[in-house]
Amino acid sequence: MPTFVEIAVNIPQVSGVFHYHLLPELEGRTQPGQLVIVPFGKSQAQGVILEHIAQPEVSETKAVIELVDPIPVLTPAQISLARQLTRTSFTPLAAWVALFLPAGLSQQTDTIYNLAADWQNRFGDPKSKPSATARRLVQLLQQRGELRTRQIDKSLRQVNWRPVANQLLRRGVLTSRSILPDASVKPKMVRTVQLGLAPAEAQAQLPNLGRAGTPALERRQAVLRYLLEEPGPVDVAWVYASSRANLSDLRYLAARGLVILGESEIWRDPLASLAALTTMPVSPLAAAPPPELTQDQKSAWAVLAGQIELANRNQPAPPTLLHGVTGSGKTELYLRAVAETLRLGRQAIVLVPEIALTPQAVQRFVSRFPGQVGLVHSQLSEGERFDTWRRARSGAIQLVVGPRSALSVPFPNLGLIILDECHDDSYYQSEPPFYDTRTLAPIYASLTHAVCIFGSATPNITSTYLASQHTWTYLKLPKRILAHRQAVQTSDHPADDTDAPVAATLPPVQIIDMRQELKSGNASIFSQALQSALEQVLSARQQAILFLNRLGTATYVFCRDCGATIKCPNCDIPLIYHDQSPIRTPGGPAYLNCHHCGYHRQLPNKCPVCGSSRVRQYGTGTEKVEAEVQRLLPEARTLRWDATTTRRKGAHDLILSQFTARQADILVGTQMLAKGLDLPYVTLVGAVLADVGLNLPDYRAGERTFQVLTQVAGRAGRSPLGGQAILQTFQPDHYVIQAAAEHNYKSFYQRELEYRRELGYPPFVRLLRLEYRHPDAHRAEAEAQRMASQVRTWLASGAYQVTQLVGPAPCFFARLDRQYRWQIILKGPDPLRLLQEHLTGGRTLQDWRVETNPPNLL
Ligand code: ADP
Ligand code: ZN
Ligand code: ZN
Repeated sequence: MPTFVEIAVNIPQVSGVFHYHLLPELEGRTQPGQLVIVPFGKSQAQGVILEHIAQPEVSETKAVIELVDPIPVLTPAQISLARQLTRTSFTPLAAWVALFLPAGLSQQTDTIYNLAADWQNRFGDPKSKPSATARRLVQLLQQRGELRTRQIDKSLRQVNWRPVANQLLRRGVLTSRSILPDASVKPKMVRTVQLGLAPAEAQAQLPNLGRAGTPALERRQAVLRYLLEEPGPVDVAWVYASSRANLSDLRYLAARGLVILGESEIWRDPLASLAALTTMPVSPLAAAPPPELTQDQKSAWAVLAGQIELANRNQPAPPTLLHGVTGSGKTELYLRAVAETLRLGRQAIVLVPEIALTPQAVQRFVSRFPGQVGLVHSQLSEGERFDTWRRARSGAIQLVVGPRSALSVPFPNLGLIILDECHDDSYYQSEPPFYDTRTLAPIYASLTHAVCIFGSATPNITSTYLASQHTWTYLKLPKRILAHRQAVQTSDHPADDTDAPVAATLPPVQIIDMRQELKSGNASIFSQALQSALEQVLSARQQAILFLNRLGTATYVFCRDCGATIKCPNCDIPLIYHDQSPIRTPGGPAYLNCHHCGYHRQLPNKCPVCGSSRVRQYGTGTEKVEAEVQRLLPEARTLRWDATTTRRKGAHDLILSQFTARQADILVGTQMLAKGLDLPYVTLVGAVLADVGLNLPDYRAGERTFQVLTQVAGRAGRSPLGGQAILQTFQPDHYVIQAAAEHNYKSFYQRELEYRRELGYPPFVRLLRLEYRHPDAHRAEAEAQRMASQVRTWLASGAYQVTQLVGPAPCFFARLDRQYRWQIILKGPDPLRLLQEHLTGGRTLQDWRVETNPPNLL
């Protein structure tokens, strides 16, 4: 009897689990997690061995063709995790297995060709005279021994040798096998530029760089001015970005000896993009030895150190929520936890929302653990990701920092998982296979006996609820640490050289009632208070941040006189404004729609509360905010940080570093601003319209708004210069605005939890969202209605009477990618089980997207 194996076949679309047997030459050489090649249909495919099995499910199995790499590509813990995820989702096992494999793994494998032992007998076969290409190929292998595809490509340039090789393989002249090559660490070069002569001489040349009044002259002058500030060679991309110059300008200057063009080697590793960041002025503590911990940090550390020690002895440790206000020293604790884990010979994964948005935090890891960090980055090529993956697998690196996909690196002895800014929605994967890293990470940690730390200043209600129910460990850092004491020097604030950490206060937050501003005749999007605060910042040569909530502008309707929003009579959430009906009567008049239950009505011409006729939808964009700054304060230097200005690769780094280097006074931006920026000169944060997000038709609208306002306000006052925040709003009495202004997480949490309990939302129930997409509006609606009545009969018949069905209704984003979207929401103790029970025997939900507790229902 041969040995049988269960294999997850890894080809897009056909992901499934199949049974194969082993040929004698593979007996005793296989183990779970290994990458193999198997026959599949008429061709071959890659697969991963899941386990050895006693009896295959089919009577005739095919044989595994070959083993690609003796070292498994999936760890045993990852296989167990994939199995658990399969049980709690509609996603098949093979799709979860694929999730843990580096993207493009099949392109990464290479083939090695060699001559068969008795090739001469077969090659000389008189019936078929070998072609010229066949002769060259055989000759090459005779001379050089076994060769990889890429090596043959190099020697036989422009020759289509592959079909010939396949023929020779079939005739037994050649042999071949697949391999996973070792990590390549190719250096990559960047073009650099530096000043070619002494600064004073360069200065004198400024007028002589082209014809007066031409744009070329201006660009070249800008280049020289930029380089006058920079002592060494800099990446040309930086110069282009700040001067609008191009390569021909640099060549012009180089030809005259004013600049020197060069090349400098950068590591192909993801850290390459951080090399640029090292020129950013960061907190001087970043590269310094670890500071002494504050009292609060010490108490928290005692608990964490105990957990790390327990976990190292394979004792289970529950997840920990580290709830610390912005700037309270959470990152310092992460650094200690990583250091301790590495000291024990185990590895660590630090998850962050997005590396490009949190360069400062990332850099602290890189400088505390030089040479041991691998970064995962959304802008990496597949090859670069693959390098990091291989270096993690081989033990060349012990720490990986990156977004949610970094969780899949195959560390052999994972001892720590950290989710920094754990409230961030980017931890949810909103495309199939749907998963929430916040659910997955604790399961994975328990499988590897790792410690799992969730950190945030504004944890999700659900995380805090779990932590306060004693199923988790709950640690708090209630005080902000006064940092940047050496960095900031002014006449009022001489540089401070004591080492002892000092507590700082969170910035005071002022609420401005925009209804009053309108009444007093100020129609600008900036209140009097915000205008004069901006003027002060400019005259003190400090910096300001203006925040505009990206989600939810121009979508809800409210009364400009009393602030009332028009709400759904069934759901008590704001109705959404549509220019014209996309769903019922295409081309019809403007109308309002409830995206939970489907209620709709026309736009009212009078406010139902005060009778005013000034009922409008609200809208403004970052461009408009920036233009208004320029109109009111023409001398202000502004920078815009939003989806439009960051489309280009590296744009985040550039904008951030320009602002950090104080080349701009006011940064106008969206949600991106809320992530971990720690800038000493920012003394003012203004939320242009603090209540926008509140009006989204979603049960987490209040939570998200509270989080983003608290995080954005937390960017001010991080140094001895102090600071303040201003929230402009049409709903000054709303509890979310009030709580955010007081930095009062607790009062927000209690209020919000009550609301969730009353209306039946997580953490008290599970939400299941069933979403259907179709290019045809009527088909989408019809299928949604059909499914809803199907589910209603299931609900009525079984043990699921407490489970509620809401909808069907069009989603808030009613059309995405030219598809109409409809959804059905199920609320109950375990709505997924209901579906699983009724969808047996191969019945599926076909084209429905099924999500458990998605971060929004929009
Ligand atoms: P968080 O992650 O909670 O925002 P950080 O760890 O970034 O907080 O700390 C905020 C600032 O305080 C940083 O500039 C950091 O370098 C500094 N800091 C943290 N812990 C200490 C300490 N024990 N002593 C002195 N400075 C500290
Ligand atoms: Zn009104
Ligand atoms: Zn409704």
